[in-house]
Amino acid sequence: MITINEHYLKLQASYLFSDIAKRVTSFQEKNPDRNIIRLGIGDVTKGLPAACVEAFHKAVDEMAQDGTFRGYGPEQGYGFLREAIAANDFQSRGADIAADEIFVSDGAKCDTGNFQELFSTATKVAIPDPVYPVYLDTNVMAGRTGKYENGRYGGIVYLDSNRENNFVPELPKEPVDLIYLCFPNNPTGSTISKDQLKQWVDYAREHKSLILFDAAYEAFIRDESLPKSIYEIDGAREVAIEFRSFSKNAGFTGTRCAYTVVPKECRAYDSQGKEHDLHFLWNRRHCTKFNGVSYPVQRAAEAVYSEEGKKQVQALAAYYMRNADLIRKEIESLGYSYVGGENCPYIWIDGGKDSWQFFDMLLDKAGVVCTPGAGFGTCGQGYIRLSAFNSHENVQEAMERIRSVLG
Ligand SMILES: *Cc1c(COP(=O)(O)O)cnc(C)c1O
Repeated sequence: MITINEHYLKLQASYLFSDIAKRVTSFQEKNPDRNIIRLGIGDVTKGLPAACVEAFHKAVDEMAQDGTFRGYGPEQGYGFLREAIAANDFQSRGADIAADEIFVSDGAKCDTGNFQELFSTATKVAIPDPVYPVYLDTNVMAGRTGKYENGRYGGIVYLDSNRENNFVPELPKEPVDLIYLCFPNNPTGSTISKDQLKQWVDYAREHKSLILFDAAYEAFIRDESLPKSIYEIDGAREVAIEFRSFSKNAGFTGTRCAYTVVPKECRAYDSQGKEHDLHFLWNRRHCTKFNGVSYPVQRAAEAVYSEEGKKQVQALAAYYMRNADLIRKEIESLGYSYVGGENCPYIWIDGGKDSWQFFDMLLDKAGVVCTPGAGFGTCGQGYIRLSAFNSHENVQEAMERIRSVLG
C-alpha cells in the first residue's frame, strides 16, 4: 500500500492568492464596466531588457546549428555566467565570493524551498512573521513542525516583525539552528542595516547556526549604506547562504533564472558534532536533482552584466521605484503609517482595520486590488501590501482613486 507523507496534511491550503482572485472575479462580474487596477501581485509587468533579448535570440540561433549546439551543460551553471555574477554582484562590492561558489538555478523559490533538505528533521527553525510562505511550507513538508494552531505551526520559532521593531525581527530568545531572513523584505518592504545584519551573523557564529538570506530585491536598494549582500558583513562566509534571482531586477519571472551562493567555509554538523562542508553537500544535491538552466536563458542572464544590460536593469528598477515613491507620498498625505517603498517595490500599510475588510473596501470603492497582510502571517493582520510593479499610468490612476475614497 502506498502511503503518503503525512506532514503534507498539516499544510494550510494557501487561500491568499486564490481568495483574492475569487473576490476580484466576483466583483468584476457584478460590476462589468468597472476597470480594476491590480497592485496586489508580486510580479513584474515590463518586458525583458533589450540586451537580454538580444543575447537570448543569439543563443537560440546557436542552438539551431550543429556546430554551435549545446546539450547538457554543467549542473551548476556555465562558467561565463558564474564568473559574471561573482565579479559584478560580489567582488565589485568587496564581498569575497568566487565563481565556483555560485550555483545557477531556475528560481530562488525552488532554491529557498530546497535548501532545507540538507538538514536534519530535528533542526530548530526560525522564520519571520509575516513571511514569503515558501520558507515555512517547505519545513512543514519536511516534518520540522507540529500541528497548525491559532495561525501558527508548533515547533517553529517565529520572528515577529512589527511596528515596535520597525519590521526587523529581534534575535531569538532561544537557540535556533536555521534562520530565514529576507531583505529588502517581501512583504513589508523593510530593510536591514549592516549593524543589524552583523548581529545576526554574530548570533549564527556563536550558536553554530546557519542563515538563509534571501536577497531577491537587492536591485531596488537606493540607500548606499544598506547591505546588498550578506557577504558584505564580516564573518558571513562561515554561516550564511544567499539566494538571488533575475526575476525582479531583470523581469525574468517567466524566463526563470536565479542563483544560490554557498561559500566553501560554510559548515553544518552531524549528530556526533563532526563538521561537514555545505558546499560539497549542496553540490551533491544539485547535481543529483537538477540538470541546469537552459543555455539561451543563461546567456540572457549574462547580458544583465553587460554595459547596456546594467543600464537597462537600473532603468527598470528606477521605473518601478518611481511608482513606489508616488504610492508612499499619497499614503503619507492620507495620514496612514507605512514602511517600505524606499528601497523595495512593496509598501506595507497599517490600514487600522482587519486586512480583508480593508481589501474589500479598496476593491469596492476604488477598484484597486491590494494584498491583505494577514495572508503572510499573524503579524500581518491589520496591514495591506501595495506593489509598485505596474505601469505609471495605472499607479497614478489607482492612487487618485484611493485618495478620493480615503481622503
Ligand atoms: C519573487 C521572490 C523570489 C524570486 O523567486 P524566483 O523563483 O526566482 O522567481 C524570491 N524570494 C522572494 C521573497 C520573492 O518575493
